[in-house]
Amino acid sequence: MGTVPIRRQYLDIKRQYPDVLVFFRLGDFYETFDEDAQIVSRELAITLTSREMGRGRRYPMAGIPYHALDGYLAKLINRGYKVAICEQVGDVALSRGLVERQVVRVVTPGTVVEPNLLDQKANNYLVAVVPEGEEVGIAYIDVSTGEFSIAQVSQAEVSSELERLRPSEILVPDGADPSGSWAIAPVTTIDGSVADPDEARQLILDHFGVATLEPFGCEEQPLAISAAAAILEYLTATQKGALGLLNRLSTYSLRAYMVLDPQTRRNLELFRNARSGEIEGSLLSVIDLARTPVGGRLLQRWIGQPLLDIEELTRRQDAVQAFYDETITRAKLIKLLSQAGDLERILVRVQRGIANPKEVIALKRGLELGPRLKEALESMAKKEISWLAQSVPDCGDVVELVSRALVDDPSTSVGEGGVVRPGFHEGLDRVRTASTNARDFIAGLERKERQKTGIKSLRVGYNRVFGYYIEVSKSNLPQVPEEYIRKQTLVGGERFVTPELKEYEALILNAQEKIEELETSIFRQVCAQIGGASTRIQSMATGIAHVDLFSSLAEVAARYNYVRPYLTEDGELSISDGRHPVVERVVGEGSFVPNDTELSDLNNQIIVLTGPNMSGKSTYLRQVALIVLLAQMGSFVPADSARIGLVDRIFTRVGLQDDLVTGRSTFMVEMVETAGILHQATPRSLIILDEIGRGTSTYDGLSIAQAVVEYIHNDSRVGSKTLFATHYHELVGLAKVLPRVVNYNVAVAEEDGKAIFLHKVVPGGTDKSYGIHVAQLAGLPRSVINRAQEVLADLEGNSHRNSEDISRRRSRVPPGEQLSFFQGRPEVLDELQKLDVSSMTPLEAITKLYELQEKAREE
Ligand code: ADP
Ligand code: MG
Repeated sequence: MGTVPIRRQYLDIKRQYPDVLVFFRLGDFYETFDEDAQIVSRELAITLTSREMGRGRRYPMAGIPYHALDGYLAKLINRGYKVAICEQVGDVALSRGLVERQVVRVVTPGTVVEPNLLDQKANNYLVAVVPEGEEVGIAYIDVSTGEFSIAQVSQAEVSSELERLRPSEILVPDGADPSGSWAIAPVTTIDGSVADPDEARQLILDHFGVATLEPFGCEEQPLAISAAAAILEYLTATQKGALGLLNRLSTYSLRAYMVLDPQTRRNLELFRNARSGEIEGSLLSVIDLARTPVGGRLLQRWIGQPLLDIEELTRRQDAVQAFYDETITRAKLIKLLSQAGDLERILVRVQRGIANPKEVIALKRGLELGPRLKEALESMAKKEISWLAQSVPDCGDVVELVSRALVDDPSTSVGEGGVVRPGFHEGLDRVRTASTNARDFIAGLERKERQKTGIKSLRVGYNRVFGYYIEVSKSNLPQVPEEYIRKQTLVGGERFVTPELKEYEALILNAQEKIEELETSIFRQVCAQIGGASTRIQSMATGIAHVDLFSSLAEVAARYNYVRPYLTEDGELSISDGRHPVVERVVGEGSFVPNDTELSDLNNQIIVLTGPNMSGKSTYLRQVALIVLLAQMGSFVPADSARIGLVDRIFTRVGLQDDLVTGRSTFMVEMVETAGILHQATPRSLIILDEIGRGTSTYDGLSIAQAVVEYIHNDSRVGSKTLFATHYHELVGLAKVLPRVVNYNVAVAEEDGKAIFLHKVVPGGTDKSYGIHVAQLAGLPRSVINRAQEVLADLEGNSHRNSEDISRRRSRVPPGEQLSFFQGRPEVLDELQKLDVSSMTPLEAITKLYELQEKAREE
């Protein structure tokens, strides 16, 4: 075959995929050429060669063996490349001349279906965003599971929604102006014409073969429709095989869920810890006891979208309760479920024709659990969960089909034999028998020929080059019969064939080829038949996901002593002996100090929490938020008892020094986020403010903190339940003037002049910061500590800024007046006064001290 035509064929294809690496199938290899080859060889550390392709010209080339595709793909996709897989689609054996080749799919971060490219317990979303004016259409799809959903949201909601979905690729129509904050994943620009509402609508109607969009519930949401169309267009261009599988589309509304903005997700460490970004130390890491990938993915969805509907929440609670009560059934189910595998993703691969035989067996194993699952569920006493047992469909026909068709432990790839069970296909059985007979014949040939020739050492062997042969050692060569045909001479002997041997060999080889062909086609048929049951398999996956999730939430509750919270629609939040689900696991059994919380619209609307550094303020704040969030997922909560008035949103704002994660925190960001809270919070929201105002000078910060509390308290549009941790002890005075503000502090015991943190939240304010204690613990010289105590006493004695005073004066006092007391004092003292000792690290403290001492000497 000439090489010029191949080169031309390659260039034709490459022209259609200019920005994508083209993996061009040549026999057992995927080859890349030219620039692609250079990239691939660099990124994958494989040798760059060159290939002569006509007229004596050589082109750079780098190739990988076809069976190693997955691993190499993973590396390239993770590094942000897209790869077009170009296969030989014509029949290689039949075609004379050039084999036809086609790009069968383009692998992009948002469209991968390779198991080793996916996180089992997380969805992999491709999201399309279509903005117009104040509104934005969002569509997302997980190509590996078939989930396809759309919504129309406001500009302000986009970034939270994207943060929730954590997409691995974002589609934006060209011409649209995506806000920078959306680019949390690689952005792919697509043809803007899909954004045209009429075209988009038509595209969706055509795809689903329907006359109206009403059943999808999106008639009134043109931008959501455009986003859905963008996804369809992109998949048409990149995933030819996937489109037919898209038969579901659901429209959702953010109104149904509690809103969790990106910083709240981060601050509450729902999915990742704030320090390293690992799962360890997150809420997820504690409550994820799911045994199946489908259950794990559902859990992540539930954490990301707490509910507002008390009825649905009660349904979930009832289910968790049922599994909580029935310990034995729970244990049984948990064991069953660990064999379930990933029905959802395997189904998609089966439907797309890329599943391997082992995966189909795994699918069967999962489906086999159906009846046992149902039986276990039906044995449970609670009738509130009878819907669960009913949701498990009967997939016995699929199980039966796979059991009949495939052997229990098939080879990984089809087309190498060893996949189809004997007795399933008559034609295949016949060929196999013929092949076995021929093999038996050859196996018997050795004995027969030894007898015939009297050569004891005569041997029948096989190698890839010559096929079957008869080997005779040198000393016996004279005894070789005439009909033996010499094939090869070795050092110690010679190899022969006979016409009879060649005849059987041909039989075996033909049979082998035939077997491989038949197995491939039988396997495809079986997969197609399984695809016919996709709706039921999908429901089985959903059923398994729910049973898994409910039973693992029950297991969490049992293991860690959670209780079922009592849910209400009033504005009260009452937790007794609440615990932080993650910190309590970290500090160890029994070491965590539980704390109560009472918040209500009527008298305890705002808690001002004071206490020294490291006493447990931040932990307490987050614990309350996490308990509310768990309750609104339908989970039990870490407390002795809890009464939760449902909240519509949880807001969090964490002050500068605690905000280690993003590192981007400037005072401006802090204020922008605070402004966002004040604009969006409602009387049903829960606000967590942890040390706001830290990012600026003490007086600025204090003034802002106070004004924020006043606003939340006084403005009836806000009125949210609020937990406010602060190191500004001055703020405790607010409780005297604002009726719904109450003070709490984290108790500290003093023993032999040392502070002991009790982590107990008690009523009342505190005016001690214990910064000097911390300095002492850090090993500052005795004389420095003594002097610091003197200075402090002096400052406190002279200070006019006692808390009540400040509160009474409210905001009308110009800052200059408050500061006047410092005028005429040495600069060092002024600086010392401004230090926020309680927030300094020992190292910072000692550095500052040296600096101050230097200054004092100069002055
Ligand atoms: P703060 O915000 O007051 O500086 P943190 O909330 O960050 O303090 O808590 C500091 C550390 O104290 C935590 O990492 C944890 O180890 C411990 N801690 C906090 N609260 C408790 C508690 N209720 N019981 C036991 N240990 C706690
Ligand atoms: Mg803190």
